Amino acid sequence: MITALFADRAENWARYEVPLHKAFVEKGLEVDLIRHTDTPESVDYVIYAPSGPISDFGPFVNLKAVLSLWAGVEKIEGNASIKVPLCRMVDEGLSEGMVEWVTGHILRYHLGMDAHILGQDGAWRKDVVPPLARDRSVGFMGLGELGLDCAKAALGLGFNVSGWSRSLKTLDGIETFAGADGLREMLSKSQIIVLLLPNTADTCDVLNAETLGFLPDGAFIINPGRGELIDDAALLDALDSGKVAHATLDVFRVEPLPVEHPFWEHPQVTVTPHIASETRPMSASRTIAENMRRGEAGEPFLYTVDRAAGY
Ligand code: NAP
Repeated sequence: MITALFADRAENWARYEVPLHKAFVEKGLEVDLIRHTDTPESVDYVIYAPSGPISDFGPFVNLKAVLSLWAGVEKIEGNASIKVPLCRMVDEGLSEGMVEWVTGHILRYHLGMDAHILGQDGAWRKDVVPPLARDRSVGFMGLGELGLDCAKAALGLGFNVSGWSRSLKTLDGIETFAGADGLREMLSKSQIIVLLLPNTADTCDVLNAETLGFLPDGAFIINPGRGELIDDAALLDALDSGKVAHATLDVFRVEPLPVEHPFWEHPQVTVTPHIASETRPMSASRTIAENMRRGEAGEPFLYTVDRAAGY
């Protein structure tokens, strides 16, 4: 019998209890799924969320892995009390949701939808021919589980797609870049930029006064990655100067975004409350169960965090 401790907020237990049990049965695992323990030494796996009750993993002396329910790991990857593999969440439902959210916002900018959605003033403006995706360049900062799926969706719609990652990739139909020079080159040709990078020491403020300056005038920014990726003050300057025409921001350095933050009032900013995509209990539970199956079978875990790289 495997012992797994569910360490997320109480309200998420109701969402996950049934899907987790179902996924364990599908994988042929016998699991005692618990929410509290007085004997941490008996726990094999911690199913973890940063908003849950555990931060000291020291007492879990026989732990085999920490299985995170979150895709972003910046709140846990530096936790020195974790001495076992730390696996982040990769979930097809999370990816699908992100593809839909990102595609929707790309199309909003590409088609200039606001002009008609917000501009119903009785004037029959038939003078603008809708553009084609093949004439628009979209750059993705981050080509991981989420960024790559979004880039492929944009490619499928006909956009000119490029992507930037830490390691240079070779991808059919997508122009790829790495390094500081690669970022400069990609930004300089991207009319729409999507940020799907993790928050690490290396990615903090990656869009700053200098790099925003590489963008073509009137570029659009979509950030469902992390707030720390963008220097807020530099973005506000770029919006005010017209360098950036509009930004859709789902994530912020402080969440909820404080009411006094200038993003709320700025006419060229759309604020969404960190809803771009969520872990879906059914598919996420399959990821958790598969990693537990692997742990029991002595196979390598999936989606382990590279603690040195920070993601
Ligand atoms: P991932 O699979 O780890 O991919 C991260 C990508 O970023 C990889 O392509 C990686 O390059 C690249 N990268 C990392 N450090 C870099 C650097 N210094 N320079 C250039 N590229 C770098 O992560 P994911 O699953 O796609 O998730 C991305 C982020 O989305 C998460 O970390 C989280 O912050 C955010 N997220 C947001 C929401 C939301 O609702 N808003 C939901 C889920 C996740 P390599 O390919 O070379 O490793």
